[in-house]
Amino acid sequence: MDKAILIRNADHILTMDDRRTELFGADILVTGGKIRAIGPRLGQAGAEVIDASGCVVTPGLVNTHHHLYQTLTRAVPGGQDALLFGWLQTLYPIWSRFGPEEMRISAIVGLAELALSGCSLSSDHLYLYPNGSRLEDTIEAAAEVGLRFHPTRGAMSIGESAGGLPPDSLVEAEAAILEDCIRVIDAFHDPSEGSMCRVGVAPCSPFSVSRELMRDAALLARDKKVMLHTHLAENDEDIAYSLEKFGCRPGQYAEDLGWTGDDVWHAHCVKLDSSEISMFARTGTGVAHCPCSNCRLGSGIAPVREMRDAGVFVGLGVDGSASNDTGNLMAEARQAMLLQRVSRGADAMSAREALEIATRGGADVLGRPDCGRLAQGKRADIAIWDVSGIESAGSWDPAALLLAGPMKVRHLLVEGRQVVRDYGMPHLDLGAVIARQNQLARQLME
Ligand SMILES: [Zn+2]
Repeated sequence: MDKAILIRNADHILTMDDRRTELFGADILVTGGKIRAIGPRLGQAGAEVIDASGCVVTPGLVNTHHHLYQTLTRAVPGGQDALLFGWLQTLYPIWSRFGPEEMRISAIVGLAELALSGCSLSSDHLYLYPNGSRLEDTIEAAAEVGLRFHPTRGAMSIGESAGGLPPDSLVEAEAAILEDCIRVIDAFHDPSEGSMCRVGVAPCSPFSVSRELMRDAALLARDKKVMLHTHLAENDEDIAYSLEKFGCRPGQYAEDLGWTGDDVWHAHCVKLDSSEISMFARTGTGVAHCPCSNCRLGSGIAPVREMRDAGVFVGLGVDGSASNDTGNLMAEARQAMLLQRVSRGADAMSAREALEIATRGGADVLGRPDCGRLAQGKRADIAIWDVSGIESAGSWDPAALLLAGPMKVRHLLVEGRQVVRDYGMPHLDLGAVIARQNQLARQLME
C-alpha cells in the first residue's frame, strides 16, 4: 500500500460533500488512494506530512470536455477570429498531418496544464485518427502525467465528398469506427470504483456522422456499459443545420437516437430551449459547459442558471485548446461565474457554486460519485491552493477562490499521489515536454 499522507492544518477546507461542509484548521488523512479521515488534529505515525497552513483545500477539479490534441494548434492565425464552421475548416488540414507522437505529446501538455490549474480528472474527446494515431496515445499520456482519465473514442464519418465539413482524409468508415470502439473499451475501460481510466463512445457531432452511427454508438455504449458524449446545440448555425437536415431541434434528435440518460453528456448546449432543458433534467442527461470556448467562438451564453435550477447535471470543460486557447480549469470556473452574471445579474451564480460545478458537478456528469468531493471513503483527489500570496492579500474570504485567486494550484493529489508539488510536477520533465511540443508545432507550420 502507498505511504499515508497527512494534509495538516488547512486554513479552510471546502469539502463539497453532501452537506457542503466547510472546515477550518482541519486535516485530511489519505491512505491507499482514498480519504481515510477528515477533521481536526488527525495523527498517523509515519505519514508524509503536507503543511496546508495558509491554504484553502478543495476537491480536485474535473474537466468534462477537451480535445487535448489541439494544444498543438493554439492561436493559429487563420482560426483566431473565425466562427465555428470556418474555424474548423482552417484547422482540419493541419490536424490531418498529425500522427501518434503529436497525439501523445499534445495530450501530455494539455493534461499537465490542467493539473497545474488543480484538475485531477479529465475527459478527452478525440475524434480524428490520422496517420496511425490511436486512442491509447492519449491514455499513455495520462498515465505519464498521473491524472484520472476518461478518454472517449470520437469519430467523423461524413467527409467533404459526402456533403460534410471535414476533408475525406480525416473521416473513417462507420464499421471501422464501431470496431475500434469495441477494441479500446475491451482493452482500457475500467468500470471499478477508483478507476483511473474509463473509456466512452463519442461521435464528433450530429453534423459529422450519420444518423445510423449515432444510433449504433448508443446501442454499443449501452451494451458495453460505457458513457456517451458528443457536441450538441453549440450555436445558431448548429440549430439551423439540425432543423434543415433532420427536421427537428438537437434535443429531439438526441432523444430519438438514444442519446439521453445519466450515461450521456453533451458539450456546450448553449442553445438548448426550456423544453430541452426539462428533458435533460428528466432523463439525467449531463452538460459540459465550456464558457471560454463559447466566448472565443462567439457562440453565446449557455443557460446554466436555468439548467441548474431545473436539476440538470452540469460540469465544466475547457474545450480544445484551439478554441480557448488556454487550459486552466480554475479560470474556466471563474468565466462560468462571470458569464451567468453578465446575462442575469450579480446574484446569478456565487463563487462557491461555480467551484461546486467545477468539482462535484463535473464528477457527477462523468458518473464518478467517488470523486469531486472530500469525504471519508472518497478518492484522494485533492487540490491545495496557497492563499498567502499576492492574489489573496487583503481577501476577507480567501475560500471564494474564484473572486480573487490564485489560478494555479500549489499541490495536487490524484488517487493519493502527489502530481503537483510546489507548483511543479515531480514525475514529469516539463521542460523537455514543452520543447518537443514546440518543435512539433514548428514542423506543422512549415
Ligand atoms: Zn469541443
